Amino acid sequence: MDYKIHISGLAGGKYDYDFKVGGELFREFGNTQVSDCDVLVKVTLEKGSGWMNAVCSGNGTVTTECDRCLEEIKLPVEFSANLAIRTAKLGEETETSDEFIIVDPSEAEVDLKQFIYDSICVNMPLKRVHPEGKCNPEMVKKLQSLKAEEGKGKEDSDVYSPFSALKDLINQSKKRNK
Ligand SMILES: [Zn+2]
Repeated sequence: MDYKIHISGLAGGKYDYDFKVGGELFREFGNTQVSDCDVLVKVTLEKGSGWMNAVCSGNGTVTTECDRCLEEIKLPVEFSANLAIRTAKLGEETETSDEFIIVDPSEAEVDLKQFIYDSICVNMPLKRVHPEGKCNPEMVKKLQSLKAEEGKGKEDSDVYSPFSALKDLINQSKKRNK
């Protein structure tokens, strides 16, 4: 899946594009927090003489890990952004703001991959926990007892984290079940 818009030779006017963003985008960026993604990004490219503008909106869900019970949680993601596309030769760029994409005049297309990835990441809810009472109760119990043990005071908690050990165990058993 690519996130490119062909711009060379495009006549003035409006053009619509849909990009279906899946979990592979996050794997590509080495983001292990997001295990899956289902976001539809709609882009309307407007081309005038000497300027281009992309109105982007995204809507969907990302699957990540609940901060409380470590089970999967689906979070809503929504964003809209207005992106100006400027053509300039490398080194000539004057704008460095996020709302601009600078494209070399020799390039035939604009790659929106980084922009789409960033937009989803910054618009993910900060609170990544299930609603109260909806967490996996067994996991919460396990994690609480591990936390309590950790609290009993080993100085080497930096080296050995019960949480990461538990995560490893879960991942192993997930693999076995597959
Ligand atoms: Zn939870």
